[in-house]
Amino acid sequence: MLNRKSRARSEFFPAVLLTLLLAVPLATAQAQTQETLEIYLIDVEGGGATLFVSPAGGTLLIDTGNGGQNAARDTRRIRDAMDDAGVADIDHLITTHWHGDHYGAMQELASQVPVRHFIDHGPSVESNERVAEFLNTTYRALYEGAEHTVVTPGDRISLAGIDITVVASAKRVIDRPLPGRGGPNPYCADFVSQAEDNGENAQSVGILVRFGEFRVLHLGDLTVNTEFELMCPNNPFGTVDLFVVSHHGQPISNAKVLVHAIEARVAILNNGTRKGGQPEAMRVLYSAPGLEDLWQLHFSQLSGQEYTVPGLFIANPVDDVQEVMPIAPLTGPSRGAGAPPRPVHNGDAHWIKVSGHGDGSFTVTNSRNGFTKEYR
Ligand SMILES: [Zn+2]
Repeated sequence: MLNRKSRARSEFFPAVLLTLLLAVPLATAQAQTQETLEIYLIDVEGGGATLFVSPAGGTLLIDTGNGGQNAARDTRRIRDAMDDAGVADIDHLITTHWHGDHYGAMQELASQVPVRHFIDHGPSVESNERVAEFLNTTYRALYEGAEHTVVTPGDRISLAGIDITVVASAKRVIDRPLPGRGGPNPYCADFVSQAEDNGENAQSVGILVRFGEFRVLHLGDLTVNTEFELMCPNNPFGTVDLFVVSHHGQPISNAKVLVHAIEARVAILNNGTRKGGQPEAMRVLYSAPGLEDLWQLHFSQLSGQEYTVPGLFIANPVDDVQEVMPIAPLTGPSRGAGAPPRPVHNGDAHWIKVSGHGDGSFTVTNSRNGFTKEYR
């Protein structure tokens, strides 16, 4: 596998062979503490694109951002993160579900970057001609030249040094707890269900990623009734360090039964300027036990000053920055044909990067302002 880390190691080796031989126990101990699982939350304007890079340089990309006229933009942003990590290919691409903000730039990306393994929940459950056409032609051609897996809860995805367990897929959830976990979830009793979601969001592939003691939960756009199925009556995996907030921070996902039970230290919102960050979702996040910080990929007009985090924790503004953020949250425009265009953000895009250590500690960095915080 060609990547910056392995290149660096092979150049390093002959020059200091003697030193290494004399100091193996110390060098090994240092290498272990310095190894990180790097995670890039890439700004694709309210879509999904999360890159994991293992200490050995293995890669997992979850979702490929938006398509159509935005495919080139989002591909460039994903490639910028790959360049920063020093990786040139994708070992595993999980498409959480078949919505355009999650698989949109796949064709463009796969034409530029080798993708070895395509992972999904199976066919779309929605009747949408464009998606059907994509799955039957473009996607089929891509995975026939590579590896393809339709995952089931409980499956493992292999990435050296990293343990990746599928906990949700195709509206089914993991049916046995991870070893040593599975205690009753005290939030189940207060759960309020929502209208049944028979669309693609509920089909999302969700994974738990473990690197030593460091644990990350990423559930795509999973909606609340399936969160309940996953988390009740028993919490199958316990607590996590990092929660990639589901569904861009919208309140049709992110029920307390999930968000409060996992006791994440840090949550990151992959929101857009007018997608996610609504007051109901922010209240659930801010009141979550153990949460130290919420970070956001975007400023959200749906939060207003009343519900937003400090700018230090926000990676991207809109291009047309307002001098004063309104105190009250805006109500988003209704969707569909009559909706006004979203505020533009086509200039520099910034990611939020997480570096996780095997001992469970991690750092989070905002690439816009360089603000970094350590979570020991
Ligand atoms: Zn989405």
